[in-house]
Amino acid sequence: MNINDTEIMSGILLRNGFEIVYSLEGADIAILNTCVVRQKSQDKYHSELGQLVKLKKQGRLKIIGVAGCGSNLEAERLLDLGADFVIGSRSVSEIWNVLSRAVKGEKIVFLTDTVCSINSDLPRLRSAKHHAWVTIIHGCNRFCTYCVVPYTRGREKSRPMDDILDEIKKLIQDGVKEITFLGQNVDAYGKDLKDGTNLARLIERASEFEQIKRIWFLTSYPTEITDELIETIAKNPKAAKSFHIPIQSGSNRILRLMNRRYTKEQYVHLVKKIRDKVKDVSISSDVIVGFPTETVEDHNETVELVKTIEFERLNLAVYSPREGTVASKYFKDDVNRKEKARRLNELLELQKQINRKLNERYLNQQVEVIVEGTTKDGLYYGRDMRNKIVIFPGKNLSLGDEVIVRVIRTTAGPLHGEL
Ligand code: SF4
Repeated sequence: MNINDTEIMSGILLRNGFEIVYSLEGADIAILNTCVVRQKSQDKYHSELGQLVKLKKQGRLKIIGVAGCGSNLEAERLLDLGADFVIGSRSVSEIWNVLSRAVKGEKIVFLTDTVCSINSDLPRLRSAKHHAWVTIIHGCNRFCTYCVVPYTRGREKSRPMDDILDEIKKLIQDGVKEITFLGQNVDAYGKDLKDGTNLARLIERASEFEQIKRIWFLTSYPTEITDELIETIAKNPKAAKSFHIPIQSGSNRILRLMNRRYTKEQYVHLVKKIRDKVKDVSISSDVIVGFPTETVEDHNETVELVKTIEFERLNLAVYSPREGTVASKYFKDDVNRKEKARRLNELLELQKQINRKLNERYLNQQVEVIVEGTTKDGLYYGRDMRNKIVIFPGKNLSLGDEVIVRVIRTTAGPLHGEL
């Protein structure tokens, strides 16, 4: 989501006569696009901001701006720390106005909700040529007790389907072949529009464009995944066979404390339903380790769940209290650091074994890969429909080329193959 917001801000600034540079050397203005999902990311941008302030004092930078969720969470503090302007995550389309005022010496906090003005007409400076992130719904109504997103990115607001399709038409003119529909709660797309629009229908409409070869979506909430969506992914050849569905914990007690509105049994049932309907589907997930009051028994339930489901990929995060959330206000962060690290490492090790085992299924298979780049060793890499990274040697390939690769070696990480 932040990458997509950066692309919009860069596009607007470029259209208004700015030059975008990718290193601080030679930059007059620096804009930090921040993330507050974990304490670590917040600490990181505080430290980055400190570095920028030093550069400004040395006369090597003129203006410092802060965008993203950090702006919504601690705008005044960011000004105190040395930012010249702070722009909210739902106001990126106003970057030009805000920056113009900052250039005149004004100190600005701009948090007005202008998310509705994010539309297909806004210029974007895309970070990849063949692939594009397309935000289809902003915000989240779920209020998981550990999460700041509903406070920083606000309530759910879907973009009209026609506007999204207009954006895709423009992307096609730029050579884009793959799109990822984005939303904090992407499956809720269309609910607020109350016109029958939903994610499944959007995927169907987007797949009608001949030039679009693959369609992805991120991130799902388990109870929002409908039978219609599963059917669409199963039947539509352009829909990537990949679901990212955060489970967060394998303990029903912890899920209740997290205000995740499903049980592990419902989650397991959902995964079974998807696997029954979508051939060779890849299912990935997120888990938070060491949530307040999580006992060894709770953790062991998560371990058992991970063993039962065998995710193709698992993102693990250690719990850290986020200011302003219910969990930080009412629950004591009582699992000590060492124990959190032990639980994290146990799950990491387990997931590695699962990855190694699941990847062996790909040996000698031919996979359809879209080229994404080259490694330091001069090999090409890309991914297949199940989000598997494949590395292979080749000559004269371009980003976005579609190739068939035979897998000749597997690891716990990427697959290795030959054209
Ligand atoms: S569904 Fe996701 S974005 Fe929404 S509150 Fe829960 S964790 Fe945060």
